Amino acid sequence: MTVDIVKWLARAASSATEWEASFGEYLPHPAAIISDEEFGRVFDELSERLRGSTPFFHPRYVGQMTRAPHPAAVVGYVAAMLLNQNNHDLAGGPATTEMEHEVVRDLAAMFSLPAHVGHLTSSGTIANLEALFIARQTHPGRGVAFSADAHFTHERMCALLGLTAYSVPTDTRGAMDLTAVEPLVRTGSVGTVVLTAGTTGVGAIDPIADALFLKERYGVRLHVDAAYGGFFALLSDDDDKALEWDPAPWRAIRGCDSIVVDPHKHGLQPYGCGAVLFADPAVARHYRHDSPYTRMFSGAPAHLGEITLECSRAGASAAALWTTLRLLPLRRDGLGTVLASTRRAALRFARRIEESSELSLYQQPALDVVTYLPSAGRTVSEVDAVSGRMLTDGMSADPTDAIFLSTLRVDAAGFGGRGHLLDIDAPSGRILRSALMKPEQELCADDLVARIEALAAPVARADGREPR
Ligand SMILES: *Cc1c(COP(=O)(O)O)cnc(C)c1O
Repeated sequence: MTVDIVKWLARAASSATEWEASFGEYLPHPAAIISDEEFGRVFDELSERLRGSTPFFHPRYVGQMTRAPHPAAVVGYVAAMLLNQNNHDLAGGPATTEMEHEVVRDLAAMFSLPAHVGHLTSSGTIANLEALFIARQTHPGRGVAFSADAHFTHERMCALLGLTAYSVPTDTRGAMDLTAVEPLVRTGSVGTVVLTAGTTGVGAIDPIADALFLKERYGVRLHVDAAYGGFFALLSDDDDKALEWDPAPWRAIRGCDSIVVDPHKHGLQPYGCGAVLFADPAVARHYRHDSPYTRMFSGAPAHLGEITLECSRAGASAAALWTTLRLLPLRRDGLGTVLASTRRAALRFARRIEESSELSLYQQPALDVVTYLPSAGRTVSEVDAVSGRMLTDGMSADPTDAIFLSTLRVDAAGFGGRGHLLDIDAPSGRILRSALMKPEQELCADDLVARIEALAAPVARADGREPR
């Protein structure tokens, strides 16, 4: 069926042992030696404790943007992790550094970047920090504009870097309102505009193609935060009408200055694997540093430490992504099949919600995040209370029936702009949000919605009202 993880993890371990043996024998030291029996006790405790984890792998986990890593990624990770390679420099991870250069080249090709410099990071947040750090170096003294729905960490990273942050309003689909950006840029106070390709909240795509002129006309940097949405670029040439797809933003990414994409979101990788790519390889100069304990300054940035803010980084992350992409290449008929199925899952899920009397679609999904609310709520605080109850009830059901949702806080303008005519008795309230990031969810989208409808129903009855 799929990769037999037990068999291949054993192979990873024996291959590491063989490799170690090739260096000859050495005397073991009793320090830190643990008996098998002692280990067994702790391992049992560990297994027991881990049972309390959240089942990201299961199709009935329809909450945050996460899933289980692909078994190929896990085996690739463990095989390299046993050797504990460090991709800071070539001496620390000669084999895994090469793999990182290869996967970064693949990611750059996915966005059709004509040239690039880039690397993996421990997360999307660190990748965005690096992009904004370079933005500060190339556009000193000028601020950063991003939409009100951009990831919360942009503001934090701006504070960290001492950059002024400008929050720009969004339109009724949650995409950045470009008409509000241009006046800001014209004043000269903004040096960088962050465009989000798939917002974390509702999955909206900022108007990347329409924003390209800002770079031409005002010389601003354009940074694309595609931490969540980046791999949808694999569908950018897709003419399958069933995907209800606009390729324009994905094709425009190649015209921007930097891109962040998270292989640990849609790239089937375990945490932590983010990536940052720069269109101009010359930005590498901004990372210049020297230290007495590393071998650096080789000319071309062969040592990844020459182009990263982080120092030590797991070579295993590169090995995991490399293994995965050898099997599911960054093409429409490779990893693209996964993205197409999650997109279809989201569309099907959304259509079923539109037909539902218990649930209302908050807005049409642009990617594979679907936002919706209980129809029974007539005021913002009722919608909030019912959504919150559904979240808790769903998770606390019997494990074979539990369903895991997430909530999204939206304000009165958010409801009104999308035609949800609620009584505004509170400034904001929670709605429900589901990322359908697993292909299996395409097969059970109807059942998932039915399960969520069942969660929504009791309240309408308890209130003595018929569900609308
Ligand atoms: C998830 C996400 C981030 C943060 O990435 P982490 O890997 O969680 O640090 C940033 N931007 C967007 C759009 C995201 O969806």
